[in-house]
Amino acid sequence: MSHLVTLIPGDGIGPEVAHAARRAVDATGVSIDWEIAELNAALILKTGESLPQSVVDSLNRTRVGLKGPVATPIGGGFASVNVALRKRLDLYANVRPVHSLPGIASRFSDVNIDMVIFRENTEDLYSGIEHEVIPDVVTGIKVITRTASIRIAEYAFKFADQLGRKKVTAIHKANIMKLADGLFLRCCREVAERNPEIEYKELIVDNASMQLVIRPETFDVLVTENMFGDILSDLAAGLIGGMGMAPSADIGDKYAVFQPSHGSAPDIAGKGIANPIATILSVAMMLDWFDHPETRRGAGLIRRAVEQVMSNPSNRTADLGGPLSTTEMGNRVVTQCGQLSE
Ligand code: NAD
Repeated sequence: MSHLVTLIPGDGIGPEVAHAARRAVDATGVSIDWEIAELNAALILKTGESLPQSVVDSLNRTRVGLKGPVATPIGGGFASVNVALRKRLDLYANVRPVHSLPGIASRFSDVNIDMVIFRENTEDLYSGIEHEVIPDVVTGIKVITRTASIRIAEYAFKFADQLGRKKVTAIHKANIMKLADGLFLRCCREVAERNPEIEYKELIVDNASMQLVIRPETFDVLVTENMFGDILSDLAAGLIGGMGMAPSADIGDKYAVFQPSHGSAPDIAGKGIANPIATILSVAMMLDWFDHPETRRGAGLIRRAVEQVMSNPSNRTADLGGPLSTTEMGNRVVTQCGQLSE
């Protein structure tokens, strides 16, 4: 059986890391028909469309995408493609596993970190509702709804239940944003009450940031709003070796898009030194999402291959202090997948 997937190479390091991920899937023997869809800053500037119809048409056909990052101009210019895609396809759950691999040199190398961040993906301050009231006075609206809060909490608890996770922690700032975060928290509590077998905790986001740094091993499943989830998941990526190690998935009821947590990394784009592991692990999440025995086997193969490759300290790209190029690192994973599947 073959699966149809939209492949969006994206900007900067996107095409390099997406190519490595595609090769890793091919090495597992899982059959994918890749439909390439262009989506990058140059195209958006040329067409004036933040989310080109060709990309939406492709995702309507395939329902699933593997995406490289797309650059978004800062402080002006076109709106974020990711925000547009998440809203358009109702990809309400941003799932970001943060799992430390043995042997990766980081400040936290001796700590076993294994958490999953569930970030609400469609509203909050990322709704893009901003207004210049008078010159030099701008408001930005934080949108929190019961519908979106309940469904991300349900998604997090369902995941925790299915994977035998023990604890869900809701992260909020309801002491200050009493209405907006108060509503988010009430929704989390409601879902927690329906899942008494899973321990439920709450942390204010500033305290959560500190706890994540001093005792990251105590976190299991985290559920939070859009902006806190965005920030905390980059912080968490820093605990396990950086952005090059952090996979991510945007999941809805009809569509799913898999992409690394990181951006287009303009500082290293074109140098061939980006770490492809985050994208390779994202594509493993995609294979799990298909939920066929064959794709689950492929996902397992990729994860085992990554673990084995990373257990050798000479297999490192520059971000982790090593000499390998993106292609060389991709090759190591491909070779290991091939050996494991023999
Ligand atoms: P970034 O994630 O691109 O880079 C942050 C730092 O991490 C940089 O030092 C970069 O070199 C490093 N890094 C990131 N990925 C790496 C990898 N695979 N291997 C090695 N090092 C890696 O964040 P930024 O610089 O804040 O954003 C750059 C652009 O990306 C912006 O235009 C932003 O809007 C966009 N962005 C896109 C997405 C997306 O499309 N999903 C996500 C985040 C940011």
